[in-house]
Amino acid sequence: MLERFYGKFVLSCSCCGEQAEDKFSKFDEVTQYMRNNGWQSELDEDNDEWQHFCPECKGK
Ligand SMILES: [Zn+2]
Repeated sequence: MLERFYGKFVLSCSCCGEQAEDKFSKFDEVTQYMRNNGWQSELDEDNDEWQHFCPECKGK
């Protein structure tokens, strides 16, 4: 999932809770990080929220 703390985006895995090492000031940086580090985002259609998965959990 993606949360905002004090204006920074914090990315964490919706499955295991693993948190990305970096914090991001722009959404673009989040998508860049995810692309570079093998994270995956997926739209949960039940509640219309984006879920984010770390490389360990994606595809499960
Ligand atoms: Zn995970």
